[in-house]
Amino acid sequence: MATLDIKDLHVSVDTNEEKKPILKGVDLTVNSGETHALMGPNGSGKSTLAYSIAGHPKYEITGGSVTLDGVDILDMTVDERARAGLFLAMQYPVEVPGVSVANFLRTAATAVRGESPKLRTWVKEVKGAMDDLKMDPSFSERSLNEGFSGGEKKRHEILQMELLKPKFAVLDETDSGLDIDALRVVSDGINRVRSSGDTGVLLITHYTRILRYVKPDFVHVFAGGKIVESGGPELADELEANGYERFITANA
Ligand code: ADP
Ligand code: MG
Ligand code: MG
Repeated sequence: MATLDIKDLHVSVDTNEEKKPILKGVDLTVNSGETHALMGPNGSGKSTLAYSIAGHPKYEITGGSVTLDGVDILDMTVDERARAGLFLAMQYPVEVPGVSVANFLRTAATAVRGESPKLRTWVKEVKGAMDDLKMDPSFSERSLNEGFSGGEKKRHEILQMELLKPKFAVLDETDSGLDIDALRVVSDGINRVRSSGDTGVLLITHYTRILRYVKPDFVHVFAGGKIVESGGPELADELEANGYERFITANA
């Protein structure tokens, strides 16, 4: 079993004028095989947490630690984090004209696995995963991220996750902007990865909608830059019924 451990994490964002403290002591432990939903209002710092784990240069760690099986990941380069088994959906958002989805996926798999996948089995693997996600085969020849619709971006994220088989996946607003059919397809993909039991998932969202399809083991409420309450799936039902109000006023 693998463990991702976030302890008392403090992070400031580098705006052009100032260093603004956003994360104010995040504590969270995710074990492989577990799915944690992190829910909170807009602007509470959820994406900042995701970017900090991903190693985005705009986010400065001012305190605390993030370890994977006891090994500090905050000192690692973005590629090293991927090799250590972290999957961060927002890691490669850039458009790369001339680099196809197929080439990108193979390069990413080579980096993570330490050797390039055998071409014949790889082609089958990609095709199978794309079929599962109801993606048109021609998608693999598209230029990376160029002109991707919201739904295509999200499917591409899940496709990467299915092929890279990470120890931990951080999915930030994977459900946003999806119509109901796409939401199901994407949720099914997340559930396939979960069912292996080898991957821990941190599902960041501000809607409870996706949690009807991806049943979390734990739910955390995020407000004011930290986790303010944790519970089981029933906590999501409470949020659905009552919103974030009581957490925002209690932690303002
Ligand atoms: P959430 O994902 O919960 O909506 P974010 O992490 O995106 O919250 O944002 C938390 C706060 O940090 C907001 O006040 C936001 O304006 C600020 N923030 C985050 N990233 C940046 C950035 N790159 N530049 C300036 N401010 C930022
Ligand atoms: Mg936001
Ligand atoms: Mg966000």
